[in-house]
Amino acid sequence: MEERVESEKLARYRRLDELEEMYPLYTSEQTLGHEAVLLAQKQAAILGEMSMLSEDDDSYNLYNVLEKSLRNDSIFELADTRNQIRSINDYNEQYLERYMNSESAESHMGTIMRIAEQKAGRDLSWKEWLAEYASEAELLSFLQYHNHIIEQQQTDPDAYEHISEEKRMFMSAVEQLRAAGTLVKIEGSIPADEVELIVGDIFNMIMQERTGFYNIGVDEMYIQQGYEMGPRGRMKEYLHNVRHIAVHELVHAVLGESFKQFDTPIAARWINEAVTEALTIRIDELNGFKDTGLTYHAERNLLELLLSKSTNVDLGMKLAYRAFSGTLDDREAFLAYLDIVWDSSDVLEKVNQAIGLEEVRLAGSVRKVNSVIRVAAINVVHANLVTDPSKILLDYEDMIALLPGAAKE
Ligand SMILES: [Zn+2]
Repeated sequence: MEERVESEKLARYRRLDELEEMYPLYTSEQTLGHEAVLLAQKQAAILGEMSMLSEDDDSYNLYNVLEKSLRNDSIFELADTRNQIRSINDYNEQYLERYMNSESAESHMGTIMRIAEQKAGRDLSWKEWLAEYASEAELLSFLQYHNHIIEQQQTDPDAYEHISEEKRMFMSAVEQLRAAGTLVKIEGSIPADEVELIVGDIFNMIMQERTGFYNIGVDEMYIQQGYEMGPRGRMKEYLHNVRHIAVHELVHAVLGESFKQFDTPIAARWINEAVTEALTIRIDELNGFKDTGLTYHAERNLLELLLSKSTNVDLGMKLAYRAFSGTLDDREAFLAYLDIVWDSSDVLEKVNQAIGLEEVRLAGSVRKVNSVIRVAAINVVHANLVTDPSKILLDYEDMIALLPGAAKE
């Protein structure tokens, strides 16, 4: 009799281990509220187990404690999520409205929303409702819906096929550029076909002002999603947007970003994006896509201006590609080239500093450099380089004196 109770207990402990495995808490998933959704699933499973136990059983207490701690973790996650939604700016709020304005969102969330509006006595935006009005359970059901949609997009077979074809075409263009000496193949750079392309979440992409990002350690690359996958008819529109972004992110992967470990002015974000986007357009052209480039206009304009000082722009561009894909020698060659054509020294470093100063000046009371300020600063430096390069290509000491916090004597 005693033995039987013992083995039942053991079985329950084992069941707990299984639950841990079924619902791992720490994942690399990049979807809003993913942890809260996992916690809720786990909680439901544990409640199911509890219903089979008698109240005076030891293991009942164990389940009870576990269930309570899960509930606490979940509340913490939901509060985090609410804060993130609360901080969405007016501009990005439009994306949220469009995202939730789909047929599937209507059928999953529409009724809850209308009841909330009735209670409030007026129309509510999705941001308002999620951040301020939705109960914990309602917020959780939104997150379950959202995670479901993102998972659907990430596992869509058409999208997967499309992305695989994209990668294949991309690699053949890269091989052509390497054969022509435009790109350098460095040791340890990651072949694009080993990189996993994953459709990202609007809360982590568009709303964080990112079109894509690359987790180097795990070779996962998240790309911006369309607003909805929805019915098949909208698929093409979505894939068209994804194609250019996927290539841009693959270019980041092929360039390797190893230069970022070094103290080099080419690691500045603006020139990294300018070169990446220029190469993206080049690869698109090689594959028969006519792209004028969708992003980083200001960055590319400034790069073009820096290179157009010489009559041989193609040479400058080739040196830039090599600097980003190559070794120390390639980086030095590019920087030396800029110094020669502008008849100055440390040209790129000075341009970077001028942009940094402009950002601080423009951010002023905002105190935070956002994408609008970043672009504006690049445009100011561009204009100054056209009208009066000496304003930008200052001597080093004069530049330092202009930095905020420089000692005034
Ligand atoms: Zn980029």
